[in-house]
Amino acid sequence: MNKDNISILAISDSADTLSLIEKFVDSVEHSDLLFSISRNNDEDIRQIVSKNKIDLIIFDINNADDSYCDTTKFLLENNISILFLINKENIDTFINSKFNFSLVDYLIKPIPDVILKHKIDIYLQNLLQKKATEYLINMYDQNVITSKTDTKGIITYSSKAFCDICEYSQEELLGHPHNIVRHPDVPKETYKDMWATIKSGKQWRGEIKNKKKNGGFYWVDVVVSPEFNYKGEIISYTSVRQDISSQKYIEQINTIDYLTKVYNRKYYDEIMEKEIYSASRYDYPLSLMLLDIDYFKCVNDTFGHLVGDSVLKEFANILIENTRKSDIVSRIGGEEFTILVSNDSHESAYAFAQKLRKAIEKYTFTTVENITVSIGISSFIKDDTPISLFKRVDDALYEAKRNGRNCVVRS
Ligand code: GH3
Ligand code: MG
Ligand code: MG
Repeated sequence: MNKDNISILAISDSADTLSLIEKFVDSVEHSDLLFSISRNNDEDIRQIVSKNKIDLIIFDINNADDSYCDTTKFLLENNISILFLINKENIDTFINSKFNFSLVDYLIKPIPDVILKHKIDIYLQNLLQKKATEYLINMYDQNVITSKTDTKGIITYSSKAFCDICEYSQEELLGHPHNIVRHPDVPKETYKDMWATIKSGKQWRGEIKNKKKNGGFYWVDVVVSPEFNYKGEIISYTSVRQDISSQKYIEQINTIDYLTKVYNRKYYDEIMEKEIYSASRYDYPLSLMLLDIDYFKCVNDTFGHLVGDSVLKEFANILIENTRKSDIVSRIGGEEFTILVSNDSHESAYAFAQKLRKAIEKYTFTTVENITVSIGISSFIKDDTPISLFKRVDDALYEAKRNGRNCVVRS
């Protein structure tokens, strides 16, 4: 028996009928007559159905006693298609039986062979089609990370693949808002943009970080599409996602400094090219700060390298906590950091640098307690390149060091 084949149980007191059915079933590919039995005892039928996956029962009934009604109810509950073969004189009793008559099919005896064959053919073709569709739906469910919401964002469908990636069960997702998987790292603007796009009837595509039930996260490339009723009104939204977590992980180790978790030198170089190009093209203000911890060598010499490392981590945290999401903080050398600030005047970027310098001065670091920082700052001017802008902040930093450190110099 092949589990993808259609399995049939034939029940008849007539050996001729059973062998005819066997012949007809044999002639259709991908179908097996698993059992052919005479109708002695309905308990046999229940046993067979409980132990085997039966798709179709051909049920030949000679006398319309009531006993087969309960069996039929049981079979229908088990989602099994039933084709009855009944006698003409029993038709009234059959139609008025206790089970839901509209859910079963029947032929009236005597049945010409060609009709029985035709009927069995139709059943088997339909069941094969149904199996193929179920297989595809199952593949989709297992492998496509997809979900559907109503117009308010309440989940109405979630595939098994979606449950697997976010670690919630179907019950925990269905009927709940989709923001159950929202990660705090994703800016509110991303969701605002998404809702504005899909509410206007368009498709939205983007990369999103999502939260798992137990605190982890995953990255997906997602397409959200609105669905419409015949009046053209939006009735639901379907999201189809691809897991891009590994790709994001590689991107991250390529762009993030392993020690302090701010951007690394490679990312700084790439982003500077882009930002300088945009600032000159769209004419918006751009300021660069270069921060260098004062007498950091003494920290290492006095407390050891490990303490030095933890000072660098705490220092980076202070920068992150005091900057906006749009500011780009990078570690470009041992104890040298940059902050790229866009859309702020030179004056307010300078005030911001002073604020940062004071925040560092006031902060009590683990073990070493106090350190200070010197900062050079400059803003983009026409025809600047990443190198020319960096040269000015580097010169400004050098001057800050010469001026006695723990100060900001602008150029
Ligand atoms: P200045 O005030 O002139 O900047 O003096 P400084 O001592 O901070 O400058 P210097 O360039 O002499 O020393 C920088 C030190 O940073 C030397 C180096 O050992 C240390 N350093 C560089 N990278 C790391 C790191 O990843 N971890 C630790 N613990 N120390 C580092
Ligand atoms: Mg240095
Ligand atoms: Mg230094």
